[in-house]
Amino acid sequence: MTTKIVGLKIWVRGIVQGVGFRPFIYGLAVQHHLTGWVRNTSSGVEIEVNGSQAGVLAFLSVIHDNPPPLARIDELRSQSCEPDGYTAFEIQSSQPKPGDFIPVPPDISICPDCQKELFSPVDRRYRYPFVNCTNCGPRFSIIKDIPYDRPLTTMADFKMCPDCQAEYDDPRNRRFHAQPTACPICGPQLWYEENGKRLGEREEALQLARLALQAGKIIAVKGLGGFHLACDATNPAALEELRKRKKRSDKPFALMAFDLAAVERHCQVNPAEKELLLSRQHPIVILERKPGSMVVVTVAPYQHTIGIMLPYTPLHLLLLEPAPDFPDVLVMTSGNLSEEPIAFEDEDARNRMGELADAYLLHDRPIHMRVDDSVTRVVDQHSYLIRRSRGYAPDPIQLPNAVPSILATGAELKNTFCLTRDDYAFLSHHIGDMENYETLRSFEEGITHFERLFRIQPEVITCDMHPDYLATRYALQLANEKDLPLVQVQHHHAHLAACLADNHWKTDEPVIGLSFDGTGLGTDGAVWGSEFLLGNYAGYRRLYHLSYVPLPGGDIATRKPARMALAHLWQAGIDWEADLPPVEALCYEERTALRTQLTHRLNSPSTSSMGRLFDAVSALIGVRQAATYEGQAAIELEALADPQESGSYAFDVTDRLVNPAPVLQALISDWRQGISLPVLSARFHNSMVQMIVDVCKIIQQHEGVNTVALSGGVWQNRYLLENTCQVLQRSGFEVLTHHQVPANDGCIALGQAMIAAKTTISTH
Ligand code: ZN
Ligand code: ZN
Ligand code: FE
Repeated sequence: MTTKIVGLKIWVRGIVQGVGFRPFIYGLAVQHHLTGWVRNTSSGVEIEVNGSQAGVLAFLSVIHDNPPPLARIDELRSQSCEPDGYTAFEIQSSQPKPGDFIPVPPDISICPDCQKELFSPVDRRYRYPFVNCTNCGPRFSIIKDIPYDRPLTTMADFKMCPDCQAEYDDPRNRRFHAQPTACPICGPQLWYEENGKRLGEREEALQLARLALQAGKIIAVKGLGGFHLACDATNPAALEELRKRKKRSDKPFALMAFDLAAVERHCQVNPAEKELLLSRQHPIVILERKPGSMVVVTVAPYQHTIGIMLPYTPLHLLLLEPAPDFPDVLVMTSGNLSEEPIAFEDEDARNRMGELADAYLLHDRPIHMRVDDSVTRVVDQHSYLIRRSRGYAPDPIQLPNAVPSILATGAELKNTFCLTRDDYAFLSHHIGDMENYETLRSFEEGITHFERLFRIQPEVITCDMHPDYLATRYALQLANEKDLPLVQVQHHHAHLAACLADNHWKTDEPVIGLSFDGTGLGTDGAVWGSEFLLGNYAGYRRLYHLSYVPLPGGDIATRKPARMALAHLWQAGIDWEADLPPVEALCYEERTALRTQLTHRLNSPSTSSMGRLFDAVSALIGVRQAATYEGQAAIELEALADPQESGSYAFDVTDRLVNPAPVLQALISDWRQGISLPVLSARFHNSMVQMIVDVCKIIQQHEGVNTVALSGGVWQNRYLLENTCQVLQRSGFEVLTHHQVPANDGCIALGQAMIAAKTTISTH
């Protein structure tokens, strides 16, 4: 009996190269007795198959429903065609044309198969720290250019041994065309260095590093996207030394534990958090600390959470392998001084970490692009990113529509840049705080790399309105040099647009944008930060904001919550009475100088910053008077909030202004009555939620708008976020929050690009 043979052509677009897609198709075709071919094209993968009707349909539905785990299918099209009489199924090679591009996959944490090989004594890659396959391993951090082939990666100098080559050439092998594939014979190797001397190689190097860690030493470990500083997280002396050397007094350190069981010894882990820890990105997940955990408290001072991740490379697994007397959790903080970008080159690391590390665990696989660890937490069962970097970048964000090629340079703190092409936005990995030359250089190198990798030549440049941001100056100069149109975007409008793009918002329908953060230059020259906007990609109106207060000393105020508290009291007409904690915290001379500064408005721009109000309240009730990292006062205030408390105070809302004076007055009187800090903190947060919902309702009545978008660093406050969402939804609002990009300034570049696209299209 013969079945009728049919033909089908299939086009797949998305992240389908470098993720084991063609071997998957090959296996699937063979399984369904199909003939034909598969090949990479400039925009994805093309397939033609011949076979029985049932076989072809089953083949198509598996691609649609069960693609390989690392693939991301953005578009799947098919069309029947005449059968072509193929006798077998083959993987064809392809030559991309100049200018063509395909998305480059991000770095992927070690897969279960490779992990099995790593710890299997009979495997030829037993205990080899660089084992990887088509389903896992380095990608973005080692790719110099496209097409993604070994000669264009930092693996170019490692010639494959015959065994590796045979695997690489076999379409049925898990390592078919796995560009970074290697083994102990032919691949990169480890060594251990102390005071410039190589003291051990390979396994011995690993063991020396483990002994040093066990002895409380601080080791610089070269990883996937850069260096970590590692030490025993359960050793108080090691922690104290690390804090001292890194000049980082309170900012939390990230941890790494060998497996889920180890994480669960120290933290509460719910199912959504478990999934996130084990996801292919292996991000740092912020978890609730378990009482009784042996992790030293100074890992994350004044907080009840810990940022922790699982080992994402074979090297990390070997480093953390459980053994008697070996710590089950290590600090793995980025290898840099505070404020500087993470070190990623050996020489640079030796220069910059000489004072930080007692020894180095190094290897000879170069890192081409530095990539920091990503940070996220679970909110409402979903990942809510705080830093989008390793494992996520450079996965493109799919835009609601095609846009011109745009370069968006972002803002200043926690910066990222964004390049667009067609309906893709390539949002960069985390660049950092653009406050020094090192970071600016990293930013410029990143842009050049992305332009080359994705074949993008920007036609439009967009940046923040703030003239002093390094990113703005860079944009101005570039637009000038290349004679390109420049679009300067208001910071809080960019937040709104980023949140819309993050939610794939397609229409011109305006929404209520609550852009709440620490700082952003407004069109009136004031420092904005509590903006109730009504707008879309094309424009916005500013409807409500906190009433202005002076920001004494400008940006310095962020380090001095006590001064911010007094500025708020001064504006509210509340006396600086001696019993109040921020008054106590500042000496007489400092207060006098501050009063003069406020009265005469010396170097004190007006601000409607929401972040600074949180700082002020934190200081006012005695939580924190001086901050050593951005947002510290607000973070510690949130950490205290008692979730059982339902009381609140009323803001004064008139004339499109939200005045916190009555709330401050009420806080002081409750504080004087001895009401506990957790209750005071919760009442302040609840007041904020109530005010937000009230103002949204007024806007809804006047403007008939029912959707609210939440963006800005203040929305990293989980208590505020969860409660606001709940109450808004209960009041019938649709709430848009961030999912793919962070709510902080890591999203600004995306918003700028969307706004610039709209502006350019409508003016041309
Ligand atoms: Zn693997
Ligand atoms: Zn080999
Ligand atoms: Fe912002």
